[in-house]
Amino acid sequence: MPCIDQKPPGFELTRNTWTTLNRIRTSSGRCADSLYRWGKALTPKCDCSAQRQTVRHIVEECPRRRFPGVFDEFLNASENVLHYINNTLDVSFECISLCFHPFGVALAVGSTEGHLLIINSETGIVVNTIRVCGSPLNCVGYNPTGDLIAIASQNGSIYLFRVSRDGYSYKKSNKIRGAQPLMQLDWSSDSNFLQTVTADYDLSFWDVKTLSPEKSPIAVKDVKWFTHNSTVGFLTAGIWNNRFYPMTSIISTASRSAAHDLLITGDTDGYLRLFRYPCISPKGEYNEEKVYSGTVACARFLFNDRNVVTVGGTDASLMLWQLVEE
Ligand SMILES: [Zn+2]
Repeated sequence: MPCIDQKPPGFELTRNTWTTLNRIRTSSGRCADSLYRWGKALTPKCDCSAQRQTVRHIVEECPRRRFPGVFDEFLNASENVLHYINNTLDVSFECISLCFHPFGVALAVGSTEGHLLIINSETGIVVNTIRVCGSPLNCVGYNPTGDLIAIASQNGSIYLFRVSRDGYSYKKSNKIRGAQPLMQLDWSSDSNFLQTVTADYDLSFWDVKTLSPEKSPIAVKDVKWFTHNSTVGFLTAGIWNNRFYPMTSIISTASRSAAHDLLITGDTDGYLRLFRYPCISPKGEYNEEKVYSGTVACARFLFNDRNVVTVGGTDASLMLWQLVEE
């Protein structure tokens, strides 16, 4: 047995990079070929049309994401390799927020480690990876014209990036500093304001031009919101303390339809409720379904307003709903 008296190259890397590096070194990653063998994917094929997407295929052959160097570099953990792992391979990010570009061409995804991934929404390929900050990116949102994206973080700050016409290139433009972890975010229809909700359910308004909090509620009284994903707000007050369910219910997610007439909410007990929007009165009626045993992590209307997608918080199950007339 050789005596190993040195740590292997790359040992000091962050856990995610280190894991991915070793998965490549040992050809044992979570690629389509393995997922297929584990019964978790329908096909072992690569999206480049190769018959088997093995780790070796990804690194050495795949026209979409092969490593632009030699395999030995993985053993030495070269700079090139680290750049490749963190910027080309999408296996190392845990994604927690998601938003479509208004033109539908790109999807922005926020990760727990502060990376924003931009995905081509037709092919599913990661076209860009941007380092935003070192904290989880809890929510992301494009403005109505799609030339700006706001990213709200666990560290309380909102990062603003300029977006290219095609939705694939991003340039940092500004930062609004806050102190409380941000959980939800909405743009105003004129792109002048943002509203955010903290982990403690505090609603705040931000002036995007001056990069400062808008303290006067009068100034934002008549603001029209492009989306309404905030779980608190004047026009959604009836989803809290509603007389038909316990006062203790905690609303974990909300989403208004594109036509501004419906509101879907989810709570920490797994209930999904459909209200008319606006929902101001605690006597507001609704349709209810309970399908999750734990928190509903997110509920969103799809573009056509006829379908709703929901995500379970602990069971990670994704459900697609269809809205029907009664
Ligand atoms: Zn391929």
